[in-house]
Amino acid sequence: MKKQYLFSLVFVFCIAFLFQSFYAEEGMWPISEINKLNLRAKGLELDPKEIYDPDGLSLIYAIVNVGATGSFVSPAGLILTNHHVAYRYVQAASTKEQDYIKHGFLARNLREEIPARGRTARITESYRDVSDEVLSAVKEEMGFAERTRAIERKIKEIVKKVEKRNPGKRVEVAEMFSGKTYVLFLYAYLKDIRLVYVPPRSIGEFGGDIDNWMWPRHTGDFSFMRAYVAPDGSPAEYSLENLPYRPKRHLKVAPEGANERDFVFMLGYPGRTYRHQTSHFLAFEEDVRMPYVADWYAWQISIMEKMGGSDRSIALKHLSRIKGLSNTMKNYRGKLKGLIRIGLVDKKRDEEKSLKKFIGADEKRRSEYGDVLEKIGKIYEEVREQAEYELILDYLRRSVNMIYFGYSVYEGSLELRKKDLERESAYMDRNFALTKQRLLSTLKNYYEPTDKAILKEMLKRAARLQGKSRILAINDIIKDDSSEKAIDDFIEKAYSQTKLKSAISLLEALKKSPKKLKKQKDPFIELAAALYPAYQKLKETQKTRKGALDGLQAKLLDIKKRFYEKDFIPDANRTLRLTYGSIRGYKPADAVYYHPITTADGVLDKTTGQEPFDSPEKLIDLIRSRDFGRFEHPALKSVPVCILYDMDTTGGNSGSPVLNARGELVGVNFDRAYEATINDFAWSESYSRSIAVDIRYVLWVTQKYGKVDYLLKEMKVIK
Ligand code: GLU
Repeated sequence: MKKQYLFSLVFVFCIAFLFQSFYAEEGMWPISEINKLNLRAKGLELDPKEIYDPDGLSLIYAIVNVGATGSFVSPAGLILTNHHVAYRYVQAASTKEQDYIKHGFLARNLREEIPARGRTARITESYRDVSDEVLSAVKEEMGFAERTRAIERKIKEIVKKVEKRNPGKRVEVAEMFSGKTYVLFLYAYLKDIRLVYVPPRSIGEFGGDIDNWMWPRHTGDFSFMRAYVAPDGSPAEYSLENLPYRPKRHLKVAPEGANERDFVFMLGYPGRTYRHQTSHFLAFEEDVRMPYVADWYAWQISIMEKMGGSDRSIALKHLSRIKGLSNTMKNYRGKLKGLIRIGLVDKKRDEEKSLKKFIGADEKRRSEYGDVLEKIGKIYEEVREQAEYELILDYLRRSVNMIYFGYSVYEGSLELRKKDLERESAYMDRNFALTKQRLLSTLKNYYEPTDKAILKEMLKRAARLQGKSRILAINDIIKDDSSEKAIDDFIEKAYSQTKLKSAISLLEALKKSPKKLKKQKDPFIELAAALYPAYQKLKETQKTRKGALDGLQAKLLDIKKRFYEKDFIPDANRTLRLTYGSIRGYKPADAVYYHPITTADGVLDKTTGQEPFDSPEKLIDLIRSRDFGRFEHPALKSVPVCILYDMDTTGGNSGSPVLNARGELVGVNFDRAYEATINDFAWSESYSRSIAVDIRYVLWVTQKYGKVDYLLKEMKVIK
């Protein structure tokens, strides 16, 4: 009897263990929603007010937007983020002789830290809904483009007004639901960010592009930076006399890490998701835009790799750009595969069919919402027709440095002469310093043969556009013959004559009036001037589309709420969000199961000695000597390297802290599994998995490999 009882008890426990529910849930929740989530019931041991409390000092003060995300991990402004977030600043500081990408960077004390020029940091301080104020600018009789312009203008006015009242702060108004809700965020804004410790590429980017967007993963994708302010505590540009920033809150790191099945949550700044978009949008992405962009990026990557082939100083100029392009290219390929795998466009179409039925079943609904989906479809038909023309026009300016310079100078000459609020955002007083910085860092990596090759390819593609799609401004360059001679002649002449290759003349040109610029007769400024009307027209088209779509999407959301009888949360938009779930494996394919924790032994297994699997000798020795100390996982008998979980993340969540039930840092998010690249369109409990570097690996590498004990002391991990 007793035995039977014991047996049943064990059985019940086993079943309970097997079916222990995971509280994974779709959602990048705005901080205003945290209290509605009942997180305590799902595993959180803190009072949710500890995470966000409008009237108190909560964890959100430890979360910092550094392009992607980072978190403060000491009272002296120390920021823990990803290796790939610091990458471009490490590249900018590297030379052939002092190659920090290759060897890593270590400041042994505050004095040795180097500025990450152009990097700013934002910390969310408060928010408020300003939808009514923003939408008060819209009048019934307005056309679509006018509507978009009125909203943009209103937002600029609000931002200016609130920034004036809050000197030193940064204000952004974020569109939450298109055309419907707008929230104003007030940020602390820091302008002096420095590099502290960055492991070598062979740890921080171990596995490179081959392993990117993949599980199992063995990448130590972490770095440390530090924020500084003026001696009086106010935000200031880099200066030697600045002092480390004292954040209102910093995170405690948990050197014991986390385990499979543990409850975890994350705070961060996810970039963009498209879950509220229609089948029309998705089909356009699948059929047209993503394949085009992935192919164009692949072309650029191959040319840049060729150029950098034998000379490290040339390769260094291209590194960060190649990394960015490969990252997007592989992400798009993952998404394209995923879209087909789960048949997402068809699924959306089916959903829309049911929605239409619901709309059609009621006279009032029919008259109000009957044509919404068709109208959206019509807009995407037009987008498709003009896609190639628009993509080429767009990438001419984005991919060819000289056109980017020429265009910025030309546009600047017109914009800077307008009143601040009337300017394009890049030329407004609050943004112009960063715009200049961006131009200068592009110029720093400028390599003429690459730029010429990219322009030539773009012009060849433009030459194939016919009829209405022809870019008239470059007709004289591309001609109609297929000999390419006209293109070659133009390129040779233009690159030898332009003055925009030097920082001084670029900045000088940026101050000139259109009249003076004209006299300068620079071929790339002239080209920009010729292209300008086409870009203006494109902008107008985009504003018209946005105006039309905003109204339609807002209606669509209304009716979807009624149909599904639930509320939705807004797509990611670079504002602070929370997501939660647990550490958990998954089944990526038939007969395959992925466990959620990798270890240093996996690093050894993958190491071939060839880039990108070329672990440093010292790391190999350390792993072989099994000197893991307190960072060893008790069951795995090795130091954990990466962890996998079912939280809802996207780009921008890079560097976000993975927090345990007590709000302590157990990992640094940096990627997603291949199947989860499609997260941006559709989240699923079965395949949406994201990846962090385990805090134990961060600390172990920092201490044993980097020998940076002072950072562990600063984080109170050792005495
Ligand atoms: N690895 C990603 C990227 O660099 C960041 C995180 C994510 O998108 O999941 O874009």
